Amino acid sequence: MKRFDIAVIGGGAAGFAAAISAGRTDKDISVCIIERLPRTGKKILATGNGRCNLSNADISADRYHGSCTKLLSVTEAFSVTDFFESLGVICDDDGYGRIYPRCRSAASVLDALRLESAKLGIEEICGFEAVRTERKSFSGNMLFEVNSADRTITAKRVILAGGGISQSALGSNGSLLVLCQKNGVRTADPYPALVPLSTVPSLVKPLKGQRADANVMFCANGNVIASRRGEVQFTDGLISGICVFDLSYLYEQYRFDSELRLDLLPEMSMKNVTELLKKVRTIRSETSPEDYLSGIFTRPLGAYILKRAVKKIPSVVGSLDDMKINDIAETIKSLTFPITGTAGAERSQVTGGGIIADEITDTFELKKIPGMSACGEMLDIFGDCGGFNLDFAFSSGAIAGKNAAMRVGI
Ligand SMILES: Cc1cc2nc3c(=O)[nH]c(=O)nc-3n(C[C@H](O)[C@H](O)[C@H](O)COP(=O)(O)OP(=O)(O)OC[C@H]3O[C@@H](n4cnc5c(N)ncnc54)[C@H](O)[C@@H]3O)c2cc1C
Repeated sequence: MKRFDIAVIGGGAAGFAAAISAGRTDKDISVCIIERLPRTGKKILATGNGRCNLSNADISADRYHGSCTKLLSVTEAFSVTDFFESLGVICDDDGYGRIYPRCRSAASVLDALRLESAKLGIEEICGFEAVRTERKSFSGNMLFEVNSADRTITAKRVILAGGGISQSALGSNGSLLVLCQKNGVRTADPYPALVPLSTVPSLVKPLKGQRADANVMFCANGNVIASRRGEVQFTDGLISGICVFDLSYLYEQYRFDSELRLDLLPEMSMKNVTELLKKVRTIRSETSPEDYLSGIFTRPLGAYILKRAVKKIPSVVGSLDDMKINDIAETIKSLTFPITGTAGAERSQVTGGGIIADEITDTFELKKIPGMSACGEMLDIFGDCGGFNLDFAFSSGAIAGKNAAMRVGI
C-alpha cells in the first residue's frame, strides 16, 4: 500500500495546480495525483477548441454564479498567467480579454504541467477511480485511506479535484461529489451549465446551420431576466453560441416558464427598423418576398422571419402593407423561442451545483473533514465562457495545494 503526504484526487486543471503548488511549497513532502482515466489532463486538451482559454483579463465576481462565489475574494490574489509564466508558458490576450497560451496550444499547457510535476517528483497514479475515503489510525497516525475497486493508497491529507458531471468521456463523472455526499458533505444538485438550449424542433428546423448576430434575452414569465450580445447558432432542435451558453444556467431556475427572445438588429431602434423595411420595400418592390430581407440577413433567415411574421405572404414585396411591415419589424426585434430544456450534461462545458459554500473554509478545506480539501469545478461555482472556469480551477487548486502542504505536519 503506497503512502503519501498529500493525495490529489483528479488529474485535471485544479488537480495539477494543487499538486504543483503543494510540491513547490514544501519540496520534502510526497505528493501524488490519482486519476480515473488512463491518462491525466484529457479535458485540458479539449478546452478552447484545443487552444486552452486559460484565463481572462477581467476576472470579476459578476462573471461567476453559485454559492462559492464568496471564495473569489481568496482566488483573486492568484495570477494564473504568472503561474504559467513560472512554468515557461507565455500567455497573451486575444483582443477580447480572453487569455490563451501564446502558441494557442492546449497540449503545450498540459506538457508544462506534466514537466513541472515530474520535476517535483509528483507521482501520477492513473486508472484509479477513487470510490471511498476513510480517515483511519495507522500505528497511531491518523491517515486517509483512499480506495478504488482494487487498489488502496494512504495519505496524510487529501485534495479532491474531481470536476463536475460535464462530458464524462473527458473524465469528470460526478463520482467525487457522490463520495462527498457519503461523507456528509452537502452539495447542491449538479446540473449542466454553459450548454445549448432546446426548443420546439419544428420552430428551428428551417434555420438548421444558420448563424446570426443578436442580442439574446432570457425571459421568464414574459420578463427579461438577463441578456447577452453575440452570435447565435441554430442546429437540430437546439440554439447555441457563446451568448446562449452564458444564459443557459438560468433554465435551471426558471424551467418551463422560460423563452429566448432574439433582437436580430440590436443596433437599431424599432422605428429605424420599420423605416429600413419600408425603404427596402421600395427598392425591391417587384421581387419575390423570399428575397425581401436577403440584403439584411442570410436568405434562409430572411425568409424565416417573413414566415413567422406574416400569415398571408403576397406574391411581390411591393404588396406588403404597412401593418405587415410593422409585424416584420416586431419579429426582427423580438424573435421568440420557448425553451424546452438543455442539451444535457454530456453537451455542457461546465457544471452548476456542487459542494456548497457553507461546507468549505477559505483555505478550501472541508469543514466537516479536517485534512480534506476540495477545489475546481466540484465546488458550487462556475463562470461565463471566456477563461473564467479554468482560471478558477487553476487558482482554487493552487491555493488548496499550498494550504494543504503548509499543514502536512499538523
Ligand atoms: C469541451 C470543453 C471546453 C472547455 N473550454 C474551456 C476554456 O477554453 N476555458 C475555460 O475557462 N473553461 C473551459 N472549459 C471548462 C473547464 O475545462 C473546466 O471548468 C475545468 O477543466 C475544471 O477543472 P477541474 O480540474 O475542476 O475538473 P476536470 O477538468 O473535470 O478534472 C477532473 C479530473 O478528475 C478525474 N476524476 C473524477 N472523478 C475521479 C475519481 N473518483 N477518481 C479519480 N479521478 C477522478 C477526472 O477524470 C478528471 O481528469 C471547457 C470544458 C469543456 C468540456
